[in-house]
Amino acid sequence: MKKETIVTTAGRRPKENFGIVNPPVYHASTVLFPSMAAHDEARKHPLEGVIYGRMGTPTTRAFEEAVAALEGGFRTVSLASGLNALTTAVLALVKSGDHILVSDSVYGPLRKFCDEFLTRFGVETTYFDPLIGGAIADLMRKSTRLVCTESPGSLTFEVQDIPAISAAAHANGALVMTDNTWSAGLYFQPFAHGVDISVQAATKYIVGHSDAMLGAITVASEEHWQMVKTTAVKLGLCAGPDDCYLGQRGIRTLAVRLARHQQNALALARWLQGRPEVARVVHPALPQDPGHQLWKRDFTGASGLFGVMLRPFPKAAVDALIDALELFGLGYSWGGYESLIVPAHPEGARSAVPWQVGGPYLRLHAGLEDSADQIADLEHGFAALHKAA
Ligand SMILES: *Cc1c(COP(=O)(O)O)cnc(C)c1O
Repeated sequence: MKKETIVTTAGRRPKENFGIVNPPVYHASTVLFPSMAAHDEARKHPLEGVIYGRMGTPTTRAFEEAVAALEGGFRTVSLASGLNALTTAVLALVKSGDHILVSDSVYGPLRKFCDEFLTRFGVETTYFDPLIGGAIADLMRKSTRLVCTESPGSLTFEVQDIPAISAAAHANGALVMTDNTWSAGLYFQPFAHGVDISVQAATKYIVGHSDAMLGAITVASEEHWQMVKTTAVKLGLCAGPDDCYLGQRGIRTLAVRLARHQQNALALARWLQGRPEVARVVHPALPQDPGHQLWKRDFTGASGLFGVMLRPFPKAAVDALIDALELFGLGYSWGGYESLIVPAHPEGARSAVPWQVGGPYLRLHAGLEDSADQIADLEHGFAALHKAA
């Protein structure tokens, strides 16, 4: 089945729920067993049954089933946020004495987790050039257990050669994790490109309406599912039922929403390329982008998030631009239906390869508003920029 069909069907069981289209929301802590025999039987399969709210309910499993189908993986574990999913995946796979390789372009808080948390437990991190490709083999040690990727990086948008990185990692006995939030699982098939663990901040495109925090870890094998699920259970982690419900509901419209995000982002990107204030539009679907060839090879689309590097302008002028916007909100958590803009400073979070600062850098999320209205809004912004410059 095609993705558009999968997202409308996966994880739903109307026949088991009076024909009701959407899975019900089970609010649960206590689960009552009808008899000691049923209790003893359920305890034999603690990860599968309905035993205790924290361990999983039909609501969490409906969401997990839908995400697993979307990502093309074996199974999914739901977590309370995207960051929680990233850190839980890492904790499930590493032990004291291990070495991990992390792309210089990963989500900032994951970097903080590696530097300020994993170090306390004797796990060492080396950051690598996102464009390293197969040469990552040179950074592998005997103790290298995991390679963390994110393609394209959600701040700097470098496209990574995931198949080459995966081949080198696997040759060294290491696993590959990717943060697949940008593609939402729709425009990049992680497991077909060699990834072992795909993590999404479902908070973003899957929920899609800026109203819930949710994360998902999808794995390719039963073995890795056991490792991730038992880690989540040991740490006492679980996603809330209402958030899982919103996640599975969001998935139903993901394909149409993402197509519109893509279309609006491309229209904005092309318009911005023609603006004299803009030094570079950082968007892998543009033929001029350094990551374009890899993107074309491995992705089937682009979502709504991209970067814009301005020519040098004073901070006050850039502030005036942002403050003048009406449709573009100033905020971080993208993937909702609304347009967003935020100034970013990727140079501060790099250690393997410097981020070349040309001028003020802005990250834009193209929402679902009318494209011409979005462009008109930015036009007002540029007028304010010049006024304040
Ligand atoms: C937002 C985001 C996360 C974290 O998700 P939360 O749900 O906010 O914790 C992780 N990775 C990427 C790429 C993100 O954009």
